[in-house]
Order: sequence, then C-alpha cells, then structure tokens
Amino acid sequence: MSHQRYKLKHTYIGHLKRGTDLLKGITGYIVKNKIQIGEIRGLGAVSKAVIWYFNQKTIEYEEIILDEHLEILSLYGNISIRDYEPFAHVHVMLGNRNGQAFGGHLAEGSIVYAAEIMIHEYEGEKIVRERDEETGLYLWDYRQELLA
Ligand code: ZN
Repeated sequence: MSHQRYKLKHTYIGHLKRGTDLLKGITGYIVKNKIQIGEIRGLGAVSKAVIWYFNQKTIEYEEIILDEHLEILSLYGNISIRDYEPFAHVHVMLGNRNGQAFGGHLAEGSIVYAAEIMIHEYEGEKIVRERDEETGLYLWDYRQELLA
C-alpha cells in the first residue's frame, strides 16, 4: 500500500516530430504544460539512441551510444519534481533489425524517427526528487516509501 493516493487528472496523447531529441521533447512538453506528477508511455522509432547504465560500484552512469535505426519497443517514465521543475525519469527498451533488445535510462541525444506518446497526469501531492547520499541517485523523498 502506498503512502499517497492519486487520481487521474488528464491524459495527453501526441507525437513528437521526426528529428526531435526524444528526452528534450518529453521534458519540454511536461515543463510547458506544468505536469508535476504522472506517468509517460511511448512507442515509435529512433534513428539513433543514447542510453545510460548505472554502475552501482562506481556510482556513476555509463553512456551507451547506439548509432543505428531502432524501434522503441517500450518507453516508460515517471514525472516528479527535481530542482523546482517537472522532471521526467524515462527508461526505454529498443529493438534492432534482428529482434535484439537494448535498454537503459534515456539520455539526451536520442533522435526521434516517430514517437507516439501518452502522458497521464495525476492529481495529488507532488513528489520531490532529492540526492540520496547512500546511492548517489536523485530519489523520491522518503515519505513516498511504500508501507508494508
Ligand atoms: Zn533511470
């Protein structure tokens, strides 16, 4: 059971233009529409992808550049607040022509070929992301911990 309950406020459905930076396009849209809490889903294709892998030993992100045409098999993200602005945390699973999948944390530099995006905005208390010393990550506020 979660600490907070949320209600669906709006669903936004749209597409991003070819050539757009996928992450910047999503972030620009949620900032412009002041979406403070929600979920993001998407399908489509990219002409190039940049994803990050979080190395838990070095506590650093490692960049993975995939310079090929890939399908967005699954894009999923959440929206919360970081540095006083709506922030999209997005993961993607991408497929190549052999049906192989790659995935990671979506970074800037992934270029849209086509992208169908759905965003669910929720009504309820916003969640703030803060740097967690233990993991080195910007995580949700401890108050949002799931209760047993
Ligand atoms: Zn991530």
